[in-house]
Amino acid sequence: MLIRVSYGTAVAMELIKAKMLAKPTTAYLMIYHNGRCINNCAFCPQARESKADLSKLSRITWPVFELKTVLEKLKEGRFSRICLQTVDYEGLEEDVLTLLGAFYNLNLPISVSITPVDREYLEKFRELGVDYIGVGLDVASKRLYRDIKDSLYSWNEMWDFADEIIEIFGKGKAFVHLIIGLGETDKEAIETIQRAYDIGAEVSLFAFTPIKGTKLENLKPPSLIRYRKIQIGHYLIKNRIKRAEEFEFDNDGSLLSFGMNKKELMNVLSEMAVMTHGCPGCNRPYYNEKPSKEPYNFPIKPKKEYLTKVIEKIFGEA
Ligand code: SF4
Repeated sequence: MLIRVSYGTAVAMELIKAKMLAKPTTAYLMIYHNGRCINNCAFCPQARESKADLSKLSRITWPVFELKTVLEKLKEGRFSRICLQTVDYEGLEEDVLTLLGAFYNLNLPISVSITPVDREYLEKFRELGVDYIGVGLDVASKRLYRDIKDSLYSWNEMWDFADEIIEIFGKGKAFVHLIIGLGETDKEAIETIQRAYDIGAEVSLFAFTPIKGTKLENLKPPSLIRYRKIQIGHYLIKNRIKRAEEFEFDNDGSLLSFGMNKKELMNVLSEMAVMTHGCPGCNRPYYNEKPSKEPYNFPIKPKKEYLTKVIEKIFGEA
């Protein structure tokens, strides 16, 4: 059996010889499928009609290895979690069960990102060591969902899936993935984040990354300052400091205020706001950005002064 391994994970496993820029704390793996996903999400290199390189997901390359080799490497104990990404195809659930069976004796917690599956599969996943499920809602706007997610699952079905995960795995165990920069307004993004926390889910934020060969290859990524605003909004909502209704927006849905002044915001914010937010043990380095650039999501804590500068810039704009 074959499996894809993220480039950074493959370097950390010494399957590829290259300089390691930031050690991934989680082993990022992707199911191997000889073909494209049955869905057709406009941003995704794996999509049905995409012409992008199949070894890509976001800007990351995922080379293929023998599962046996990867299992040997995983036994060496360098990772605190396995994160398994999937693409959608007929029979996916059974392949996931086979992989989970192969991982079982490693005694590592496992996260699986997957399109909606039946409840019985979720229950089996849990029995096989899965403790978190990623929900690829991706689009933080009901208005745009159908245009961008040409997929078998509607906006409402994705939310129903998140509810079901929480019923089976518990509160905080569904991670709703949102890509910022797909045309959603700040208001839509903030309200979607609030909805996720209201149902007991968590949110992982990603920055839109144009990939050659995808439908959205010419769309620009979000500005860093806009992304920071959404990250700060996310932090305030996640930590129950503010609710979406307390934020202020203009008529176009652009964020005007977090409902607090600069000093109040400085007092409550931590560097966590701009760091990768995912399952325990996840730092997801360079998923959306080149290592030479200022990251959208910091894999390690930035200096406190960095946050002060960001807040100064946001309030300077207002
Ligand atoms: S369902 Fe996932 S893998 Fe498939 S096209 Fe959409 S984002 Fe890509």
